Amino acid sequence: MDENLEKTILVVDDSESNIDMILAILKAYDVIPSTSGEDALALIKEESVDLVLLDILMPGMDGYTVCRKLKSQAETRDIPVIFITAKTDEESIEKAYDIGGADYVTKPFKPKELLARVKVQLKLQNVIRELDFMATRDSLTGIYNRRRFFQLAEQMYAEASDDLYAVMIDIDHFKRVNDRYGHHTGDDVLKSITRTISRALPKPSLFGRVGGEEFAVLLKTGGQTRAMEVVSLVQQKVNETLINIGENLTISCTISSGVACKQEETATLDCLLREADMALYKAKEGGRNQSIFRDV
Ligand SMILES: [Mg+2]
Repeated sequence: MDENLEKTILVVDDSESNIDMILAILKAYDVIPSTSGEDALALIKEESVDLVLLDILMPGMDGYTVCRKLKSQAETRDIPVIFITAKTDEESIEKAYDIGGADYVTKPFKPKELLARVKVQLKLQNVIRELDFMATRDSLTGIYNRRRFFQLAEQMYAEASDDLYAVMIDIDHFKRVNDRYGHHTGDDVLKSITRTISRALPKPSLFGRVGGEEFAVLLKTGGQTRAMEVVSLVQQKVNETLINIGENLTISCTISSGVACKQEETATLDCLLREADMALYKAKEGGRNQSIFRDV
């Protein structure tokens, strides 16, 4: 499939004839037309848009205002905006870049130039997305890395009331796996267990690899009983998973988990995770392959 067709471009211009012209130029893309700023802002909430082509002079909300609104919201901030406008004075161009425009094309524009500029922005966006993925994911397992986990956890912690649970998970005797079968097998085990945990967690949960064989989860479940059910299910699924490590050879692993709940007296996210970590320590001390809830 042509990858262009997967890209969605929102074209905002009050002139229908301009829109028709741009539609013809961008025929290789999925284009959503819109004839007003208000309409464009409503559309962008419902559709997944990769790029916006934005007229400046429009009755009602002008293009600058639309761009400012897009750049002020987390969900739309990273969508590149190319202004297409009849305004050619330097102040207008400068303003367009100042408020976050990625590029500026003046009318009347040359079709091939517009197409080339669209391609540049989409290519740039792909690179940024790839870099962002690499910077935020654990390269082995594909789940959030430590840094990203903590960033997202801080947000979740700040927004949550008291129904927020932290779970620290550690693979039991993982060193033995590495020593006995080698690091390559160790990596396979990590990948397999990550997949199993990921599938067993309710959505939305935050799940990251925070150490070698250590994982952290933040979840909202609706009470301690339910939280512990989730944790036991995760543990059971891991126990049941047979990991293929060579011809006719499978192994299985167990995990230990420590669970803590956000309380009124829990001062910070770090405190909550420390509580969960202490519970994990107890689970390890108590013989592993178990989960312990930290009562404070
Ligand atoms: Mg106009």
